[in-house]
Amino acid sequence: MTASITPAERSAELAARLQRVRTRIRSAVAGPAEPTLIVVTKYFPASDVELLAALGVTEVGENKDQEAAAKASSVQAQGLNWHFIGQLQSNKAKSVVRYAAAVHSVDRLSLVTALGKAMAAEQSRRTEAGMQPRADLDVFLQVDLREQTPAAGSSGGGAGTGAARGGALPRELPDLAEAAAATPGLRLAGVMAVAPLGADPQEAFAKLAALSGNLQKTHPGATGISAGMSGDLEAALQHGATHLRIGSDILGPRPPVR
Ligand SMILES: *Cc1c(COP(=O)(O)O)cnc(C)c1O
Repeated sequence: MTASITPAERSAELAARLQRVRTRIRSAVAGPAEPTLIVVTKYFPASDVELLAALGVTEVGENKDQEAAAKASSVQAQGLNWHFIGQLQSNKAKSVVRYAAAVHSVDRLSLVTALGKAMAAEQSRRTEAGMQPRADLDVFLQVDLREQTPAAGSSGGGAGTGAARGGALPRELPDLAEAAAATPGLRLAGVMAVAPLGADPQEAFAKLAALSGNLQKTHPGATGISAGMSGDLEAALQHGATHLRIGSDILGPRPPVR
């Protein structure tokens, strides 16, 4: 395995990888707008977040509340926006709104309700503590882009083996959007998806772009498209991604799951 390296060496490594990803983004961007690069730091230590912040990164992504909360409270760097991108249990909403600027994985009405309640509680907590109120929470509706087979039905949770992907069914989006838009403390930012394993990312992201177009007919402010990871950022950008979530191509291969 890798021998331990100094912070300066790690910083140089991160800078080089970041540069490479930024070059890829630049050559793949379709329109005039620059996408937001979210660097996914899950499984990597808070020290890496500090190094990334020093390299100019402002958006970081995490997928587990326990890990994210610990990192967000230990990182000294100012001006970071934390994006929660993993499956979220409703009972973690209260914790997440303490540090997260955005949640990309909102896929059910009960979670919209929980996040709304958590935001109200968080604003009261801040008022009582003499703190400034926080900004509204940006909410991306996560869509499950897997082909729906009749057998799969609408049970949702059966994400199969491996990475749990989550997401609402496309037909559930209008109600979710209505609920998020109507909930004080939440700002409906747009849609999010992970290209299904084994599927053509071009097809998946084209479908997501169409869903985004539909959503914007009723919610013109919900222009965000959170799509694209290390392996498929070019395809995502071709289909209008506004937010990229890039982990391993910047941080390196993730340590094996403990
Ligand atoms: C881990 C993760 C990413 C980053 O994936 P990489 O392939 O490492 O770039 C993006 N989105 C979600 C939802 C993730 O869980």
